[in-house]
Amino acid sequence: MIKLSDVTMQYPKSSRPALSELSLELDKGEFAFLIGPSGSGKSTFFHLLLKQDRPTSGDIWVGDFHVNKLKARQVPKLRQSIGCVFQDFRLLPKKNVADNVAFALQVIGKPASTIRDAVPEVLEYVGLSGKADRMPHELSGGEMQRVAIARAVVNRPSVLLADEPTGNLDPETSEEIVEVLDRVNRGGTTVVMATHDRHIVDAMRRRVVEFDSGRLVRNDEYGVYGIG
Ligand code: ADP
Ligand code: ADP
Repeated sequence: MIKLSDVTMQYPKSSRPALSELSLELDKGEFAFLIGPSGSGKSTFFHLLLKQDRPTSGDIWVGDFHVNKLKARQVPKLRQSIGCVFQDFRLLPKKNVADNVAFALQVIGKPASTIRDAVPEVLEYVGLSGKADRMPHELSGGEMQRVAIARAVVNRPSVLLADEPTGNLDPETSEEIVEVLDRVNRGGTTVVMATHDRHIVDAMRRRVVEFDSGRLVRNDEYGVYGIG
């Protein structure tokens, strides 16, 4: 589902590559944790998958997309196949919960009838039934992240990228959010979650991919956070 072959990303004027000679394969349906200190290349990895940055060398595939060969007009299709969730939720503050999710479908041209059906279904799926009319500022952090997940998966992407999705949440809420991501993963979506949360990584025992200074230093199928 995700494959990188000898990928190097050297930003202009940067002294060392953000990612060096990275080769990595994640199968369809995997759940992988991406760990490593700040500056180790986790965000760069996500940007490359989304074609928000272009690698200096190497090849990248996401699903059927050969990302580094992709024509500009195909980039929206690539991005529609990848859901994204962030530490800071990134909800639209002036839209209620349902409209935040609906907006993701409107911008890709889904018909109103599809949106009417899909929004309540996905809100139930992430545990937000009854909150459709709330505004973001009325929600807890955990609820805001559930909205963000609903918005990211409502179009059934094949991949979900989560960049420190529990970074702003207390431990108990973090566990609940990971449960939602696990549910999405069990539905067949490949999930990659960048995190610094050792408790979650150790509790889940899924694939652990570790970067250090832009290099892949560990790739364990049933990993733990490690001694770092
Ligand atoms: P992480 O997400 O693990 O914190 P990043 O991928 O953000 O790491 O950063 C990896 C390295 O690439 C860092 O040294 C960072 O300073 C550098 N970097 C990231 N983005 C850019 C950019 N747009 N221009 C120059 N250097 C960058
Ligand atoms: P799972 O196996 O994860 O429970 P299923 O595909 O069997 O998922 O779906 C269970 C319920 O959750 C169904 O009502 C389905 O429509 C809903 N559902 C599953 N994934 C999504 C999604 N990405 N967006 C919206 N609803 C979903």
